[in-house]
Amino acid sequence: MNVSQNYVSQLMGRITTWARVNSPWAIHFNSGSCNGCDIEILATLTPRYDIERFGIKLRGSPRHADVLICTGPVTRQARERLLRTYEQMPDPKFVVAVGSCGISGGVFQGCYNIVGHINEVLPVDAFIPGCPPRPEAIIDGIVKLLTHLQNGTRPEPIQFAPQETA
Ligand code: SF4
Repeated sequence: MNVSQNYVSQLMGRITTWARVNSPWAIHFNSGSCNGCDIEILATLTPRYDIERFGIKLRGSPRHADVLICTGPVTRQARERLLRTYEQMPDPKFVVAVGSCGISGGVFQGCYNIVGHINEVLPVDAFIPGCPPRPEAIIDGIVKLLTHLQNGTRPEPIQFAPQETA
């Protein structure tokens, strides 16, 4: 690759990152939440909190989404659908776990119908704790994810101890 080709490819990379950071489209998936976290996500999308000022837009199709926002633990019934949704998203894709249940299983930990928390099914890039987290916390978590994208890095994954099975 000569110097001008190298320059063009670097420039294209910078433009792509700029576009990705300024217009991350998201899809929301409830994999078993009690709906508390989902209501807070909906509040985050309203003009009061105005998440669109960061270019974040909710999409109906995983094929148009860069960020998968997940709530709740993962139930046996939702696991396959969650994986299918993730697989349909174009690369590079990012996963945000919202709420204590998505992070650790929360109050649903150990239930007969729960496979585990989201990080046991998908690679999670950002964790937003709370039961449920407030819209300010959700915005803060997503903006931190965008800052990592801007710097060309991925957030350090957090490791949880595996859940004991009966
Ligand atoms: S973290 Fe709290 S609000 Fe969110 S799904 Fe779990 S119990 Fe419901």
